[in-house]
Amino acid sequence: MGYVVINTELCKGCELCISACNRGALSLSETQNRKGYQPVSLARPEKCNGCSLCAIMCPDVAITVYR
Ligand code: SF4
Ligand code: SF4
Repeated sequence: MGYVVINTELCKGCELCISACNRGALSLSETQNRKGYQPVSLARPEKCNGCSLCAIMCPDVAITVYR
């Protein structure tokens, strides 16, 4: 099992991390951050295995993985 924390103010909603996560754990949030982007959230935490692919893919270093 793993867990990710997303810095929602750094996220620009590019969805690269969603594509990278082959467990389907991530989704865009309904809300917007202060820059007007919809940040990613860990919508299905039970699916996260802590593989870190999302964090490696994120160009804005907005994801921290715990495991
Ligand atoms: S750590 Fe792996 S399983 Fe968890 S959200 Fe990121 S890509 Fe998906
Ligand atoms: S890759 Fe980074 S900037 Fe892009 S949606 Fe994911 S967390 Fe946000």
